Amino acid sequence: MLPSSTDRAQLPPDWRWANRFATLGPDFYTELAAQAVPQPYWVGTSRATARLVGLGDEALGSNAWLHALAGHGNLEGARPLASVYSGHQFGVWAGQLGDGRALLLGELSPPAGHHSGSLEIQLKGSGLTPYSRMGDGRAVLRSSIREFLCSEAMHALGIPTTRALSVIGSDLPVYREEAETAAVVARVAPSFIRFGHFEHFAFSKQIDLLRQLADYVIDHHYADCRGASAFAGNPYAALLHAVALRTARMVAQWQSVGFCHGVMNTDNMSILGLTIDYGPFQFLDAFVPGHICNHSDNSGRYAFNRQPQVAYWNLFCLGQALLPLIEDQDLAVAALEPYKQEFSDCFAQQMRAKLGLTGLTLESDPALIDDLLQLLARNRVDYTIFWRRLSYMVSGADPATVRDLFLDRSAFDAWLLRYSELLGLVSKELAANSMLKCNPKFVLRNHLAENAIAAARKKDFSAVQTLLTLLESPFDEHPGMEDFADFPPAWAADIAISCSS
Ligand code: AMP
Ligand code: MG
Repeated sequence: MLPSSTDRAQLPPDWRWANRFATLGPDFYTELAAQAVPQPYWVGTSRATARLVGLGDEALGSNAWLHALAGHGNLEGARPLASVYSGHQFGVWAGQLGDGRALLLGELSPPAGHHSGSLEIQLKGSGLTPYSRMGDGRAVLRSSIREFLCSEAMHALGIPTTRALSVIGSDLPVYREEAETAAVVARVAPSFIRFGHFEHFAFSKQIDLLRQLADYVIDHHYADCRGASAFAGNPYAALLHAVALRTARMVAQWQSVGFCHGVMNTDNMSILGLTIDYGPFQFLDAFVPGHICNHSDNSGRYAFNRQPQVAYWNLFCLGQALLPLIEDQDLAVAALEPYKQEFSDCFAQQMRAKLGLTGLTLESDPALIDDLLQLLARNRVDYTIFWRRLSYMVSGADPATVRDLFLDRSAFDAWLLRYSELLGLVSKELAANSMLKCNPKFVLRNHLAENAIAAARKKDFSAVQTLLTLLESPFDEHPGMEDFADFPPAWAADIAISCSS
């Protein structure tokens, strides 16, 4: 049922539209209405993300917001638009892409004193746009549930990400490898600008527009880049440098938690260093460094252990796009260079925290982390379970619970001896406490998502919400939910997630 004219979704009191992206002008986007999915129903909602944009439980249960977030155009004052970008896909220049199935509803600005800043709301799966190319403008229920859950899971893990407010289903058929049904995810972020937006204007040699975009991003999101002390007084080099550092930190967090993005094309790289565009992502089960989670990635370009290099390659593309503004190749290279050190520093810091050795430099045993990772790989140890059990062990559990995860027990014993020596230098109690707060018990494994998707296809949405509850506090014990923290079932190895979404 379409909402009547009285059924308009209202902004929360004292919130207003800011819509700063729209001020860039029509070279950057096309204004158009969404093509709503018919007869929408709630599949999942995040109360935490709703609160960021001032929405309470009544909104998330209301017919008005259900229709607004399904694209019915009944949101008071919204002027939706699809933005244009380009990008490198699988290492090859792909030319113009753009929001082919996404629409920016606008940017919401909070009243003074609210805990969040201005945030954009974007629908994904809301119909055709001028940038849809061969696509149908839709997203399927399966991939929408995955994006919804993973956005919130990553946030709870402390990893920068776009957020998800809702996933709304419809019985509208959508054809991929087989017939599926449509869904719309409402995403929330300070900005959805990607590296590809910059590449778009650089490649088409529209340098004035490129400068306008860079100035916009600096003014609204990287104000420090204007300072005289920023990168040789060159704000565009300073921007590149700042994005490189943020990206390094984000990827270091991915690597430490075992997250594989799957499609690190330059159009899927956020200028804010947020994890964006959840497609064939995967949290590692067994620790297989060369794991390829994307079934369509034949060459393994985006394998788990290649992510740090690929991010650097993508930053290089961003650097090339910004070069007409930076006007100095050496300066651009100098802005990118610190990525490597930042990545390795952050990764080492993450791993020391996982080991409960935050305060130590590991000078006495510099190979401790590398050797552990090799051991995990050789024994194909379940990555999440290993870290959680190690945390319990430091809390006092029997070391056999960790040892049993390894085929080569004596190799593990030798490593454990080295680790115990360093643990002896710190307070075990503090180490255990901090380990339990950085080694999650619950991650969004593929099979968990599959189970929730299977239930949702039968219109049982409780599994999505249950999983969300666990993923929102992944470090808590959640007694009685052990199955969700267990090893993957044998069938999990056969799950093939492709780019098709
Ligand atoms: P992705 O692989 O999801 O990052 O998408 C790459 C490009 O293809 C982006 O420009 C998307 O907007 C576009 N795209 C992906 N799927 C669809 C679809 N079903 N309909 C229209 N455009 C799509
Ligand atoms: Mg994308």
